Amino acid sequence: MTIQPRAGILDIRPYKPGAAEAPGIAEPVKLSSNENALGCSAKAADAFRASSDQLHIYPDGGATKLREAIAREEGLEAENIVCGCGSDELLQLLGKAYLNPGDKVVQSQYGFLVYRLVAMQSGAELVSAPETNYTTDVDALIETAGDDAKIVFLANPNNPTGTFISDAEIRRLRDALPPSTLLVLDSAYAEFVRDANYSAGIELARERDDVVVTRTFSKIHGLAAVRLGWAYGHANIIDVLHRVRGPFNVNLPAIEAGTAAIADRAFMQRSIDHNEEWVAWLRQQIGGLGLEVTPSVCNFVLVHFPAEGEKTAAAADAYLISKGLIVRAVQPYGLPHSLRITVGKEAENRAVVEALREFMAS
Ligand SMILES: *Cc1c(COP(=O)(O)O)cnc(C)c1O
Repeated sequence: MTIQPRAGILDIRPYKPGAAEAPGIAEPVKLSSNENALGCSAKAADAFRASSDQLHIYPDGGATKLREAIAREEGLEAENIVCGCGSDELLQLLGKAYLNPGDKVVQSQYGFLVYRLVAMQSGAELVSAPETNYTTDVDALIETAGDDAKIVFLANPNNPTGTFISDAEIRRLRDALPPSTLLVLDSAYAEFVRDANYSAGIELARERDDVVVTRTFSKIHGLAAVRLGWAYGHANIIDVLHRVRGPFNVNLPAIEAGTAAIADRAFMQRSIDHNEEWVAWLRQQIGGLGLEVTPSVCNFVLVHFPAEGEKTAAAADAYLISKGLIVRAVQPYGLPHSLRITVGKEAENRAVVEALREFMAS
């Protein structure tokens, strides 16, 4: 092949989504992608269907209706919001707009895999700062970023660890970074967090021009298939993202579903309540099997297995798959001895605990 992509592109390992199949099992339970156990808002699904008589018309490229709905529900300014095809796209656009080849991009040790993709797509160099107890270590991030990081990507709370740092810690991080470093706060799981010391970072993004927050409809709103996310930030950043996005990057069914979903407070509350109950239960039950479970404020738990012997993460994963239970192996994150398990419906949660109990006793 004589036609070659830009340097570095062929080094990229494409993102591997959570598995969706278990060999020989017709309807496996999928707990590998942090999808919403309750599905999505019925109102969002209705709005999605209702859009089907307008599929021949280009959508509003600015997704104005959706931005206004988000602004209304979240108490924000619609002009400081840009929507994307998943928050994934917004993370990609930030890289596309701000990174030059050779730039330094910083994340925490077990940062979301998409940050590495974004850095590599621009020929930037990704550097990870060590975590402490599977939790973001602000001092380590500050030291790693130094005075020349172009972007610091921080998921708060983080996936796959499920841990978070406080608003005060985020502010300490921002204050220590130079003004030439953009802080990207990926708050994909913000709605699930109940801790008073937590903030999604919206206030900080309102106060400063070097912070941008990304949010998603894939988790609390259960619209992962629709591909919808949004970013909130200073007018300068939002203007840049509008310039680099596709002219119609958010499709009409997504605009309609998202507009209905963000107004359906009752569905969001049910999702939060369900999660609060079952994430605690999973942690307690799995912990009771003698496995370490990292405390999670998200809709998943990270479970740690012995590195050696018969009860490894790989063996547990194989056992769960044989029972039709699909969870996420996280060795691509540098966690070869752990599995990430999404909170499911009651019966699914009970099934996964029961299978782990059998596995540990076998
Ligand atoms: C799930 C997730 C997202 C959401 O991605 P979408 O593209 O909006 O589906 C973003 N960041 C993190 C850390 C996630 O876990």
